[in-house]
Parts: sequence; C-alpha cells; structure tokens
Amino acid sequence: MIARVRTELALEKEFDYLVPPELEAQVEPGSRVKVPFGPRQVLATVVAVADSSPQPNLRPITKVLGGQSLVTPQVMQLARWMAGYYCCPLELALKSVVPVAVRKEEAAWKQQLFVRLLPAPANPPELTPRQAEVLRVLEEWRELPLQAFLKAADTTAPTVRKLEDLGLVAIQRDITERDPYASEHILPTQPLVLNPEQAAALGRIKAALQPLIRSRGGAAPGPEAAAPGRPAATGLPAAIGEPGTFLLHGVTGSGKTEVYLQAIAYALEHGLGAIVLVPEISLTPQTVERFKARFCTGPLQTMVAVLHSHLSGGERHDEWHKIRDGRARIVIGARSAIFAPMDPLGLIIVDEEHEHSYKQEETPRYHARDVAVMRGQLARAVVVLGSATPCLESYYNARQGKYALLELPTRVDDQKMPLIRIVDLRDEMHKQHGPPIFSLKLKEAITQRLERGEQTMLFLNRRGYATSLQCPKCGYVAGCPNCSITLTYHRQAQKLCCHLCGHEVPAPTVCPEAHCRNPGIRYAGLGTEKVEATLAKLFPQARVKRMDSDTLKRKEDYRRVLSDFRVGKIDILVGTQMIAKGLHFPNVTLVGIIYADLSLHVPDFRAGERTFQLLTQVAGRAGRGDVEGEVFVQSFTPFHPAIQYARRHDYLGFYEQELETREQLRYPPVSRVALLTLRGRNEDKVRFAADHLKQLLEPVMATLADPVLLGPAPAPLVRAESYYRYQIMLRCRQMTRLSRELSALAGRLSLPEDVSMQVDIDPVNLM
Ligand code: ADP
Ligand code: ZN
Repeated sequence: MIARVRTELALEKEFDYLVPPELEAQVEPGSRVKVPFGPRQVLATVVAVADSSPQPNLRPITKVLGGQSLVTPQVMQLARWMAGYYCCPLELALKSVVPVAVRKEEAAWKQQLFVRLLPAPANPPELTPRQAEVLRVLEEWRELPLQAFLKAADTTAPTVRKLEDLGLVAIQRDITERDPYASEHILPTQPLVLNPEQAAALGRIKAALQPLIRSRGGAAPGPEAAAPGRPAATGLPAAIGEPGTFLLHGVTGSGKTEVYLQAIAYALEHGLGAIVLVPEISLTPQTVERFKARFCTGPLQTMVAVLHSHLSGGERHDEWHKIRDGRARIVIGARSAIFAPMDPLGLIIVDEEHEHSYKQEETPRYHARDVAVMRGQLARAVVVLGSATPCLESYYNARQGKYALLELPTRVDDQKMPLIRIVDLRDEMHKQHGPPIFSLKLKEAITQRLERGEQTMLFLNRRGYATSLQCPKCGYVAGCPNCSITLTYHRQAQKLCCHLCGHEVPAPTVCPEAHCRNPGIRYAGLGTEKVEATLAKLFPQARVKRMDSDTLKRKEDYRRVLSDFRVGKIDILVGTQMIAKGLHFPNVTLVGIIYADLSLHVPDFRAGERTFQLLTQVAGRAGRGDVEGEVFVQSFTPFHPAIQYARRHDYLGFYEQELETREQLRYPPVSRVALLTLRGRNEDKVRFAADHLKQLLEPVMATLADPVLLGPAPAPLVRAESYYRYQIMLRCRQMTRLSRELSALAGRLSLPEDVSMQVDIDPVNLM
C-alpha cells in the first residue's frame, strides 16, 4: 500500500511513501502521519492511498498519529473545493479544517486523579472520627476528582491515601475531558408551541430532510405526524426539487432560535447530527446555554460540543474529539466549526448569516456561510441561513430560487417593534453651538429611564477618547508611522494608539513639531471613552459601564459585565458593536446610537447595507420585555436610505433600492468580485508589479461574461503595518471560472522578491 501525502514544508507537491503492513489498517485519506523528509521527520496529511507509485525507492511512513483520521472524507472534499475556489494551496486549506491542538497533538488528554469508593469490606477497619467523616463525604458522591474531593471534604491527600491503604477507597488515574462550561448550572427547557409561521418554517425544513432520512433507511414518520389540529402547512409532502438551503428571514425576536432547536431535535430523532454556526461575537454563554438546556435531558439527550477561539488548546482538542467519536451530536461554534467532523450530518444552521466575521481574513479566505452551503450539498444535509437582515447576496439567491425563503415577519407574542427616532445632528449643532455627543432629546430620554429604573444601551463603533490629535497652529496631525491612518487618543492610558498595527506613543502635552511646541493642541472626534466620560458629567448619579476591547482584557470580564447588567447593577452600558449582537435584556427600554454615520461614509459598496444591518440589530436590543422600546439614532445625514429604511423596519424596501444601485454599478449580488492586493515595502515596486499584473489579467477577463477590471489603484488603506498596498478589483458573473484562471495565473506569475499578492474571492473587506 502506498500513501500519497502532502506536508506543510512543500506546498503544492505530493510525495509517495510506503505503508508498512502493520500500519495499513490505520491509514486512509485524511490520516495524519509522520514521514522522513530529507534528514528530518515531518508531519504530513495523507491525501490518497494507492497500490503502486511511479516513483522508485519509496521510504516508509514512520508513524500514524491518532487512532482515527483527522479529516473525514467529506471534510477532505470540502478542503479540496476550498483550495480550488479560494485559490489557495490544499495544505493551507487542510490546515484550517482541523484545530491546531488536534493536528499537533500538543494538548493530549489531560490526566487527572480520581477517588472512588470501594464496596465496604466484610470487617470494616477502625477509623478515627476524622477519617469516618471524610469517608462519609465520599459515600455521598461515590466518585470525585481528587482535587475536588479534597475541597469538598476539607481534607488532605495523606488522609485519603490512608483510606486507600485501609482498602476503603481507590485512587486512580483517569482520562477526563475538560469541559469549558462545567461550572454552569443548566435548567432543562421544553419545546415551545410554535406560532403558525414558525410551524410552517419547521415543516419545510423537516420535509427537506426526508430524502436524506429515507436514503439512510430510516422509517420517516412523515413530518409532524403527531400534531393534530395544527395548520396543514406542516403536512407538506417531501418537497421534490426543493433546494437544500433555506434562508430564514425573521425579524429580531421572531423566534428563529426556537425553530433551529426543533429542527435539530428532529434531525437527532433520525440519527442525524447538527452544526450550528454563530458569529464569534455572539457566542456568549447565553447562546450556548439555550442549546445545552434543550438537549441536556430527555430522550434526545446528547452532549453539545462548543468550538471557538477563546477555548484553550486543550479544551478545543477535547471538544473536537467528542464530535469525532460521535458522543456529541450537536456542535455550536464560530466560523471554523463548519469543518467539525460530524458524521452523519443532517442539518447546518448559520445564524446571523449576514455577519462579516464569517469571512476569514487570512488564507484560506473562505466565507463560512458559503462553505456551509457547499458542505450541505456534499453531505446532502439541509442548510438553514437565518437573519433579520440577510445579506443582499443571500436574499437575491432566495429570489432566484437557489435558496428557499422562509419568513417570520412578526415578533413572538406580538411584541411591537421598537420605535426608532432619527435625530438630525445638524440642528443640534446650532442648538448646542458645536458638535454634540448627546442631543437634547437623547439626554431627556436617558433621564427618564434613570428615573423609572430602566436600562439604557449606547453604541458608538469606535474605541478610545478622541480620533485625532491636531495642532491648530502649525497643522500637525498625529499619524501612525507604519499606516496611513491617524492615531487615536486613549485618555485613561494617556497614549496615542494605532488601531491597525498597535503602534503606541505617550500622549504629548504640546505639539510634537520641533519648531512649534504649541501647548494648545486639540483632540477631535470621539470614541467610547469620551462618551463614558461625558455621561459621568451629565448623570453623576448613574452607574455607567463601558464595554469594548480596551476594557475587556480577560474572557471572564465579558461575562461579568453582562451579568452585572442583567441583574440591574448597571444603568447605562456604553459600547462598540461588541454589545450589539444577540444579547437579550428585558429591562433595556432605550437604545442610543451616538453617531450612525460612522459606517456610512467609507469607500465600500456595502457601506449602506452594513449601516442598515447595524442599525436594525442594535435597535433589536430595545424593548425585549414588557415595556415598548425606544431607539434614538443620531446622524448628520438623517435622510440616507439606509437610515430611513431601518427606521421603518423595512428590509424589503431597502433590498429593492439597494439592488437597483448594485445592478447599475454591476456589484454583487448581480456580479461577483475578486480583489487582488499587491503589497511590499517599496511603493514603486508594488505599483510596477500591479501594472504588470493588470496586463496579464486583461486577456483573461476578456473571456468572461460581463467583465470589469478596476485599477490598479492604491488601496483605501494604502499603507498598513509599513507595507504599501495596491489593489486590482475584478468583477464578472462566473466566479468558479475566474478563480480557476486566477489559480493558474498565480502559478506562472513572477513577482519581484519583496512584493506579494493576495487573492480574495468574494471579499467583504475592501480596505
Ligand atoms: P430570534 O432568534 O428570532 O431573535 P428567539 O428565538 O430568541 O428569536 O425568540 C425570542 C423569545 O421568544 C425567546 O425568549 C423565546 O424563548 C421566545 N419564543 C420563541 N418562540 C416562541 C413561541 N412559539 N412561543 C412563545 N415564546 C417563544
Ligand atoms: Zn499603524
């Protein structure tokens, strides 16, 4: 038997090795192996097995890592697709489908000592009162990790050893799994009675699962067989030709999550597992708990594995193996959880599918939503994309019949959508003689909430105190030496910081220009720190807390602040978009968006869409309880369509008018984008390489439908982390063909040594 492998040392090359007979049973495509490579031993991934090899004198594989292959055949297929579509070497695609901790076996199973109670001997030995007391504690628990037991019994290891000598207990080494949520108490929940829209959506999802269930020989009882008296919408026949991907468009609070939960339950009943993707930022304990609570007891009881970047390597290793071994049948996680080794897989849910954090901003630059749709096709699994504000691409796909559209147009229990008021900051400028942070109306609204004991959330999507330092005398502006942006002033830390590369300098008290030294330097623009400071002045009695990545250094901070807010220890929570997503506090009746224009005036064709989404999401935080919510949106461009449609909660209106613009300019979703960025330390060389690349691209583009080639032009952030960056934007309708052409071109392209090219297919970040 021959194994064909790839290593991370030699990209794009495959090597054959002999598989010794004793290892044959363990080697399959996807296995991780150790092989001799020159004088060294290196890790490699088996991509295929064969009977013979064209190469003579093969060396044998040294070792197979792990009992099972790390990459299941399905995930291997997915990695191959990714490598092709996103123009990246297969090794890099493979690298991102298995967590580092699993690949490197760095964090092997943690071993722990356990104390176990032994059956009482026929002649019980004499015990001291203290020993008897300790033993009684163990009688209650029967078995405990030693450390936990020492604490519970308030005793020491020698005492327990003594009990072991007496033959009363055993101390053993045991493999235990780290459970990152071990300390939480979870109260089980039952499925809710769905409203007709939810029931109809669930019925369609169940129907779409039928072909998969039938093909596995499961006796499918027919969707919703046991719900007499319910609307007939759920009794759909197994949909013929229905696409396997749904777009669940439901306003915030419309009960999408309950639909996910019941769809998962149905999949589990038929022996199928589920993957649930949520954006990293909303992967809060609250979200995870909702899933655990539903499946921690009852006939469908299963472990819910959690995968995200805040887990330790060891935790990630354990969670991954729970899935691989089939002990956890549900995975909930951020972007990379789409590669979880779940098999058989029935359902993939992508919640908040419009979120940009699903796009990985390093090679392979994949979009987890699109990978999910592809994985669904490979596994014949059903994919549900959910959002209150679907991205234009997804809604367009639904309109085109590529996805099936499911709608939840109202909040559950007929709660009203919050009232959104737009405040024209231009008027406030006159009233308050200068740029205001709080309009008079917003101030009044906050005062009211404080009097009524209700809570307020305020958003500003920028950290720090002031966004730039200027000298009014000589015109000096503090910029980053490495990047083409200004430095942000952080008052607490008394520093100027670059939010791109992290460069920091102490905040000056006089103009740093040698010939000027003017003490009258000014700080302009505002960030969350200034909002917090201003609140303290305006409302000295209020309990204010700021939440952004400056105040949250450790992972427990996030939980602590949120739980303080939940129990009412905080009146006003100020934050960046970090607090905009998925949170649910019934006592929040006021939401203020300090400056809505921030995301609007950026050089990106999605600026309007992003602003619409952000306003809608943020507004969704208000009035999730009994009292109706109120939202204030402050803006210098109050009549912008993104703001006006958000005010009216009119997704469809926004979609129609935005689509028209995109059609005129031939932007997605009517066209597709590939963004090529050339970067290097020497600007002339970068520009020269970009011009050369353009010449190579022109004939390629000419063969495609509706081609657009823009650039080369300096990127909006022309300098970042001391690299110059030039971009070429390509647009056309056939992305699969274009990415094939780009891969081929990248192969024969020779760039100056210190210039590199980055290909981004379907980019979300154009800066
Ligand atoms: P979404 O995910 O669309 O924002 P959620 O699923 O979080 O909405 O639902 C909002 C609230 O409504 C939750 O507290 C949920 O438990 C509750 N809920 C959902 N569906 C129902 C239902 N059919 N009946 C009663 N309450 C429901
Ligand atoms: Zn910088």
